[in-house]
Amino acid sequence: MYDVAVIGAGINGCSVAYEFIQEGKRVILFDKEGIASGGSGAAGAFISPKFSKAGELKELLHEAFVYSYDFYDKNFPLCFTKAPLVHIGKDEADDEALHVYKQKTALKLKKVPTNLEKQLSQEAKKRENICLEAGVVDAQRVCNDMSCGAKFVKEKVDTLVYNDDYWVINETYSAKNIVLATGAYDMLIKEPYIQLRGVWGHRIDITTATQNPCSVHQYVSISPSNDGKLAIGATHNVHYHPEKNKEPYDIEQGRAELLEKAAKTMQLENVEVLKDYTGLRSGSFDYLPMIGSLVLSNETLLTCKGSLHVKKPDFSKYVYYPNLTMINGSGGYGFVLAPYLAKILTEHILHGEKISERIIPARFFARWAKKL
Ligand SMILES: Cc1cc2nc3c(=O)[nH]c(=O)nc-3n(C[C@H](O)[C@H](O)[C@H](O)COP(=O)(O)OP(=O)(O)OC[C@H]3O[C@@H](n4cnc5c(N)ncnc54)[C@H](O)[C@@H]3O)c2cc1C
Repeated sequence: MYDVAVIGAGINGCSVAYEFIQEGKRVILFDKEGIASGGSGAAGAFISPKFSKAGELKELLHEAFVYSYDFYDKNFPLCFTKAPLVHIGKDEADDEALHVYKQKTALKLKKVPTNLEKQLSQEAKKRENICLEAGVVDAQRVCNDMSCGAKFVKEKVDTLVYNDDYWVINETYSAKNIVLATGAYDMLIKEPYIQLRGVWGHRIDITTATQNPCSVHQYVSISPSNDGKLAIGATHNVHYHPEKNKEPYDIEQGRAELLEKAAKTMQLENVEVLKDYTGLRSGSFDYLPMIGSLVLSNETLLTCKGSLHVKKPDFSKYVYYPNLTMINGSGGYGFVLAPYLAKILTEHILHGEKISERIIPARFFARWAKKL
């Protein structure tokens, strides 16, 4: 019997596995494809805050950025490259947001390194920019390292059955708790109020003669160079979905698009593409992540019949799946959010700590039930 079965071995699942292992718990981790085989394996995995004027997501990402930078630096230094991040506005609205961000932020800002400035395109030079200390994670390696104390099973989870006080997985394995970390691929438990949007992304590793000292983000994300290699990535393709499109994804066109967008920011000399990585990232419909217990909708509709249309729902009255939680919907910030959210989720499961109502999945049940 395991203390927890984590389903999905992306950065969210591996971060939860890591936190449980730190608490001395027995962890079994499932993935149908392998560790970091979904969106996490495709990610550029830049650790960056969100450069917007205001909002809950910006606040959450600020806290997560400060936490995760420290977390990777202390616990996984071999998977973490510290480098300045230069974020450049794409248009006037972006320039304005960056300008406001710079006025308000408590983070220490830097000057754009002169060796990068020289390489920026004329267009990029005209735009507002911001430079601060940030980092890039080796996505595959960190997921492997985080989960190394867990029992890993490469298997698709098809069935979850609750049996008095433990869960039976695929009729074979048992665990006291279930954490669903299935990304945009498969929610496993179908509840009508849980809806996630999968956005397709593509990253290429290239060789180039250009030395790049920083992470540079504008139309795409460009990593710092190391031994003549760097990565270019983006999740900008809202038209392709591997489960919905009939035609396969056009890798050549995707590469051309990434290189064209990178060239709008900086000229990269003698480029050769080494490898492609593709995957879906999952986002929620209010852009905030979803962590915590899942509401049993039919049971809650019956129990809370009279109080579903109130302005401020009382989430403690809802009926939940026993010992089953999820962590998902991190959008383009999974590597920034995962260590921070996994800590919150683990403290909730093991020590009963409360999770902010702004990020619990039950908020979506409340909205869905109101519309019935
Ligand atoms: C090109 C690209 C660039 C990105 N760049 C960044 C970035 O710079 N910084 C950043 O922070 N984020 C970035 N992201 C976003 C980040 O990758 C995601 O937010 C993150 O990977 C989400 O992690 P996850 O663990 O929720 O999902 P995933 O990594 O998709 O993991 C879910 C896993 O669940 C498994 N699974 C699903 N169903 C089952 C089942 N029934 N049984 C067993 N296994 C199952 C899947 O096989 C998959 O491996 C990027 C994403 C992409 C695609």
